[in-house]
Amino acid sequence: MALEEYRRKRDFTKSPEPPGTVGGRKGRARFFCVQKHLASHLHYDFRLEHDGVLLSWAVPKGPSLDPKTRRLAMHVEDHPIEYGEFEGVIPEGYGAGIVMLWDRGTWTPEVDDVDAALKKGDLKFTLDGYKLKGSWVLVRTGGRYAAARGGNPDRTWLLIKHRDEWAGDVDITEFAPNSVRSGGDFEDILAAKTPDVWRSNRPAKGGGTGEMLAKIIERAAAMRHDDAGGRKAASKARAPKTRAAKKAKSVRTRKK
Ligand code: MN
Repeated sequence: MALEEYRRKRDFTKSPEPPGTVGGRKGRARFFCVQKHLASHLHYDFRLEHDGVLLSWAVPKGPSLDPKTRRLAMHVEDHPIEYGEFEGVIPEGYGAGIVMLWDRGTWTPEVDDVDAALKKGDLKFTLDGYKLKGSWVLVRTGGRYAAARGGNPDRTWLLIKHRDEWAGDVDITEFAPNSVRSGGDFEDILAAKTPDVWRSNRPAKGGGTGEMLAKIIERAAAMRHDDAGGRKAASKARAPKTRAAKKAKSVRTRKK
């Protein structure tokens, strides 16, 4: 079944993540989302609805609006559709850390046969999210790039923006760092969710998981501090010029 690997990695008595079912949403626009995930490493989980699940890639540096910047995207296990709305704190186990719903919207394949495109390793599509829009491609790289980074060649892809009116040189991850669901940053999500986590899934004090979550809480605080400084510097350095940047700016402002 499509969600076996997803379920095998998790203990749903200890994680607030949904176990999920393979569901269809026939006749509706296809969902996509990007979840910013502060775990042992910060990364962005890029997910496209297809055949009742969310196809998923972990993008360490997050999407770039600059067509010259190719972002490494590791293909990971399918996730349930319900996961696409998930935002919260995973107190322990696989993916322990904080998940933020960073962007969401719909996607449209630019090919007739998505399965064939995936098999070929070249999937072109259009995004209509709050932050990400326009034409993109996910392309599987050959073994050399993957091997150089110690990765599995079959799982190594690149996420690349196509040149269009939504492309630009603004760093979208810096420009619009917060949640599209709550408007908050990692610290806000922690503040909102942690009391529940502590009540129901209290990590063992002094244990590895407790330590790890403590580290992540520290990093979330440090990121908020950096972000406040970085934004000031960025807005002084240059005004946004592309439509995408203006859009990103309006998203950021609206959610504040
Ligand atoms: Mn992740």
